[in-house]
Amino acid sequence: MTLQQIEKLRKELDLINDQLLELLNRRAEIVQQIGRIKKENNLPFYDPEREQEMFEKLTEKNSGPFSDETIVHLFKEIAKASLKLQEKETEEQLLVSREMKKEDTKIVVGDLVIGGKIPVMIAGPCAVESREQMKAVASELNRLGVSFLRGGAFKPRTSPYSFQGLGREGLRLMREVADEYGMKVVSEVMSAEQLELAEEYVDIFQIGARNMQNFELLKEVGNAKKPVLLKRGFMATLEELMLAAEYIYARGNTQIILCERGIRTFEHWTRNTLDLSAVPILKLKTHLPVIVDVSHSTGRKDIILPISKAALAAGADGLMVEVHNNPAIARSDAHQQLNLEEFASLMEGLGLIKKNKSGC
Ligand code: PEP
Ligand code: MN
Repeated sequence: MTLQQIEKLRKELDLINDQLLELLNRRAEIVQQIGRIKKENNLPFYDPEREQEMFEKLTEKNSGPFSDETIVHLFKEIAKASLKLQEKETEEQLLVSREMKKEDTKIVVGDLVIGGKIPVMIAGPCAVESREQMKAVASELNRLGVSFLRGGAFKPRTSPYSFQGLGREGLRLMREVADEYGMKVVSEVMSAEQLELAEEYVDIFQIGARNMQNFELLKEVGNAKKPVLLKRGFMATLEELMLAAEYIYARGNTQIILCERGIRTFEHWTRNTLDLSAVPILKLKTHLPVIVDVSHSTGRKDIILPISKAALAAGADGLMVEVHNNPAIARSDAHQQLNLEEFASLMEGLGLIKKNKSGC
């Protein structure tokens, strides 16, 4: 008899569950509608006053047996889930999101492709220092089949007394040397003025970690007609990196390469902590190519081969490596730059020599 009673009551509960489920999802649909209207009108999703008002109405009507606190607690959970729903929809609607574009974006630079089948190598010194230096590095890179030459002409240095880069002269001589070897130039810009100046010399604009959330600069490169290599800020989440890319994409520049370059943690045996999970996550969440800077993330040469292998195994579309003909006298990042032999053996170890030579 008792069991039968329980069974009967459970049936009633199941029925109520079905009704609750239907009501919850109906409620969620209305929440989504509100979310879309709010988005169109640039209004924040979260409205604490409205939420408070809703809880007050509910507790006024509450006749138990649930206490007011429990009712507020339960509806807070519903409100939280609703907010997430609105945010998720927005995230899925980002132009850089995988939902918006299923196929991988390929960055085409002349006859080269980033984000294609073959991982690319972007290599060169931390900073452009002299013609001799650039020539020595570029000729070896070229011999190994590397097509992308990096080098900073505008350097974001922590101390204002450290070497700040050669500026326009650095860009000019890097372009000259790159042209001699048929290479492409990747170089950082930190302001709208530098962007304008670099336009003439550079094939890919780099936005450094420190400027990942320089929104005005992001808008400027968003208007540019050349690809952008966007580095993750060392305190930035992947969501923030995606939103930074959205700034560029939304302005019309769809040629964006994301770069994981390590984040700040308590660990001090590496310069930064390389977040390798960023690679597969970004590839899932966005359609943009993702590369890994194995030099700035680790800050050390002795683990560069396994780290590079790991980055490629995780699905990276390429690597960035700092290479100098004489690292001992480099004017910045001296201890993390590979010398020419070390770089050649890295390329060998990765089996990239032939691949980069045959083009992408
Ligand atoms: C660089 O690549 O030259 C550089 C300064 O890197 P990051 O912005 O990642 O620190
Ligand atoms: Mn550097």
